[in-house]
Amino acid sequence: MRHTRNAQLWKGTQTLTARRAEGFKPYPVTPLARWLRILASGVIGLFHGCIEPDLRLTHGHGASSAAAAGTLECGVCQEEYQPDGDKAPEVLRCGHSFCAKCVRNLVRHHPYGRRAAKCPECRDETEEADVRPNHLARQAVLSLLAMRMRLVSLPEGTSLTHQEYYGLVGLLGDHTMKLRSLYRASRDGTTYGDMLRCVGDKTRLVFVIRKDEYVFGAFVSGGLKLPDDPTDWNAYDCDLWHFSLAGLFPQPTKIDIDREKQHVYVAGRQEVYGTKVRIGGYMWLGHSSEELTADMRSCRQNHPGPNVLAGSGHACLGVSVEFMADDLEVLHVVDGQ
Ligand SMILES: [Zn+2]
Ligand SMILES: [Zn+2]
Repeated sequence: MRHTRNAQLWKGTQTLTARRAEGFKPYPVTPLARWLRILASGVIGLFHGCIEPDLRLTHGHGASSAAAAGTLECGVCQEEYQPDGDKAPEVLRCGHSFCAKCVRNLVRHHPYGRRAAKCPECRDETEEADVRPNHLARQAVLSLLAMRMRLVSLPEGTSLTHQEYYGLVGLLGDHTMKLRSLYRASRDGTTYGDMLRCVGDKTRLVFVIRKDEYVFGAFVSGGLKLPDDPTDWNAYDCDLWHFSLAGLFPQPTKIDIDREKQHVYVAGRQEVYGTKVRIGGYMWLGHSSEELTADMRSCRQNHPGPNVLAGSGHACLGVSVEFMADDLEVLHVVDGQ
């Protein structure tokens, strides 16, 4: 869709005028004045945060403040700039900036096939070799990101840092989403019973495993459903996916699980052999091959196939396939609060 839109930029003034009349903004290039205004409010916000840090952590306040902090968007694709990668701002000879991906598209769709980007704002041309990173804009993006992370309200008692939490709610699809911390092994106890007591029948759970610099886990829409027979197992399908917040990937990363693997195994309260909870086949919590597993932080995790890391047979989101986590947390996605 966006490629189509980019291609349409070159269809001539007539088309653009017509599309403009429809409310389409073909060249909404972020003007410097707007950046400076946003930056100024950001600096004020950061300063404000320094002197009254509690304000940044007030429940129900942070998300709207974060949204009000504003974003920097590429004028072509209208997607938010990132400090690096495809969405990092690059500057053309004329001084106008667009994201790296859109600049590549401008070169690819040059009307006469030259290796040059024709600026959609002023029609000036920049040789591909003369395109430069816009360092000032990248710094501005970084500053805004840092400010927005700090404005987001952390769930009370969570193990997640602002950066990790911000990444997680981004993966959940909405930075205004609210989560509540239900259980932490380090706080509430490490046994299966401790976890079941805290989590109860809540659904839309986020499991967060922390080991050294690795932070990863799983979203489980269906919650933990115990079997009728407490010595048995319960297995059921529900929407679930895995994620990495820190350690393996430079960015928070969502890992989709094949449809046929989207099931959860939950041991009964009195089931004494083996692993207590298995999420999506490859994330096991309270893992043991021996009787009487006592600690939910005992984990086993790997992904088969090349889905996660190209070329590898199995991939760990953490330090090793089997490990004792530093902490295990369960959060509950709360909507509209
Ligand atoms: Zn773009
Ligand atoms: Zn230009």
